[in-house]
Amino acid sequence: MDILKHILKLREELNQHNYNYYVLDQPSISDYDFDIKLKELQALEDQHPEFADEHSPTKRVGGAITKNFETVAHEHRMYSLDNSYSKEDLLDWEARVKKVIDGKVQFVCELKYDGASISLTYENGSLLKAVTRGDGVQGDDVTANIKTIRSIPLSLKGDYPPKFDIRGEIVLPFEGFNKMNEERIEIGEEPYRNPRNTASGSLKLQDSAEVAKRPLECLLYNITGNNLNISTQFESLEKARAWGFKVPKAASLVNSTEEVLEFVDYWNIHRHDLPYETDGVVVKINDLHQQEELGYTSKSPRWAIAYKFKAERVFTRLNKITYQVGRTGAITPVANLEPVELAGTTVKRASLHNADQIEKLDIREGDTVFVEKGGEIIPKIIAVDLSKRPEDSQPTHYIEHCPECGTELVRAEGEAQHYCPNYNGCQPQIIGRIQHFISRKAMDIEGLGGETVALLVKENLIRDYSDLYTLTKEQVLPLERMAEKSADNLINGIEASKQVPFERVLFALGIRYVGETVAKKLAKHYKSIENLAEATLIDLVTVDEIGIRIAESVVDFFNSEQNQEIVDRLKSFGVQLEISAEKLANQTNKLAGQAFVVSGVFESVSRDELKKMIEDNGGKVSSSISSKTSYVIAGDNMGPSKRTKAETLQIPIISEYEFKDFL
Ligand code: AMP
Ligand code: ZN
Repeated sequence: MDILKHILKLREELNQHNYNYYVLDQPSISDYDFDIKLKELQALEDQHPEFADEHSPTKRVGGAITKNFETVAHEHRMYSLDNSYSKEDLLDWEARVKKVIDGKVQFVCELKYDGASISLTYENGSLLKAVTRGDGVQGDDVTANIKTIRSIPLSLKGDYPPKFDIRGEIVLPFEGFNKMNEERIEIGEEPYRNPRNTASGSLKLQDSAEVAKRPLECLLYNITGNNLNISTQFESLEKARAWGFKVPKAASLVNSTEEVLEFVDYWNIHRHDLPYETDGVVVKINDLHQQEELGYTSKSPRWAIAYKFKAERVFTRLNKITYQVGRTGAITPVANLEPVELAGTTVKRASLHNADQIEKLDIREGDTVFVEKGGEIIPKIIAVDLSKRPEDSQPTHYIEHCPECGTELVRAEGEAQHYCPNYNGCQPQIIGRIQHFISRKAMDIEGLGGETVALLVKENLIRDYSDLYTLTKEQVLPLERMAEKSADNLINGIEASKQVPFERVLFALGIRYVGETVAKKLAKHYKSIENLAEATLIDLVTVDEIGIRIAESVVDFFNSEQNQEIVDRLKSFGVQLEISAEKLANQTNKLAGQAFVVSGVFESVSRDELKKMIEDNGGKVSSSISSKTSYVIAGDNMGPSKRTKAETLQIPIISEYEFKDFL
């Protein structure tokens, strides 16, 4: 029993630290100490599966895979909001409200967070499910992913109603977004466009462990349900906060449209100090009875209205258009601007996207251009002030040759981007590919960084990633900033990467469109690089979720003699180019086409092991029961609602032992 006590104590402590850090923004322990405690808890839970709890803080790291997100109906519809853009719009709205409501009306002003909306259902203080807005009537069940977001409480505190939905916005704060982009740029991937799209894309990632790595947050603003014993919107914000939710403090209770406008003016400036993106203010009638009286139109509540901030714009001079070459050879035109202040930062560059964009706006060097900072981190040029165009202005001729290697550029039909086709001879492409190869999610070579790769290429020590395995300490020692120890680390890191499993090697090769997930699928299906290299287009597209674009890219890659040589060299150095025998022994396709739901606590295996067994044998694991579920594997303490649901849908419930026999 002492062990259980200890486990419970650790969980409570870690939950409190999470809350302090992610909800209150007041860390109360170092990251290091937190990790130590978390590891301790994980070890205890591994030794004592009988004390497992799906709400344990150890579950925040994710691991559950969702292949298809189930569609779930919202118990209470999720509406959108009407927009307003001016004082007149707001006064019109107030007049419409006053026609229905006699007596005093108060407004709550809140910030409008720019992210992806989510509806969380809590039952008896526990997070039951999380569903995206979808079309407002039904959305996708993304519970497994949502559970990894640390500011979302898995269990509530205080005096909460037995059942309710709470709505909010999943946002990706700037700092984390920028960090993700730095990492992407480092591995030569296109940076993400803006935090909002990245946040909403994150909710639909199949691997919840990937979601766990993204610094998402959830800001709550609405409680919905029956018999909640709450009478105003302002009160509901306070209650939500008390139950452990993250509810921003900006919300303000006011008595007039004048005051609403003051709120808008204030936040139109101070929103730039917030860590996340906002695109306006939402004004709501405070009294919930009055809200009820006002009701809804077919798409939005009559008791609320959004007031959109105007996007900020400045004009400045476009000094020069330059062109960048990415890892894949894609060319990006960049506007180099006369530095100017915009939304609290100094802007020097703006993306011009591609040749069409330049042509459409007829953008020229020397022009005075309007620059806007909307949702995108990199500002964009939205118009040219033609009245300020110099007399000797010349139309922009998009470059025809690569600025790095001089090769003639190509542009595939239907594609917006130009490419430098000099795959093997264009330096930024060579360097970018090797940087991708060594990056954390690929070969993860310790002791070797992006800048060193660039140096190694420039010094002619390596020409492709297979050359890394021929490097000697004597060769790297003379490099800038290289010392005895760092040279040793580098060589050891390269040696160690020979153990990296096939699926990651496949990702590391940098085949266009073969990202982490696709690499996993291909590795699992083909099992070795030889098999993959021999696969035809037709073979490839028959693999689940492999489309024609990916298939073509794979075939192209292996059609190149040079690539074949590089792959052969990697093999001769001992890099893993097939699935290990051990892994292979445990994989079959016996469960193809079958969907499983795993529920409860098991004796002989952990839940994660069970899920892995299902997936290794070609089956699918989903988080909630539907008519598409083939079997429910139930352990001890299976949730009663799950059991009822399985019974009503007549889905067979089996034990872990029956499942193993079955295999
Ligand atoms: P729209 O998508 O422009 O119709 O705006 C409606 C959306 O704004 C809602 O679905 C919410 O996801 C989002 N939103 C952001 N902040 C708030 C807030 N404080 N109150 C209500 N909705 C909000
Ligand atoms: Zn080039």
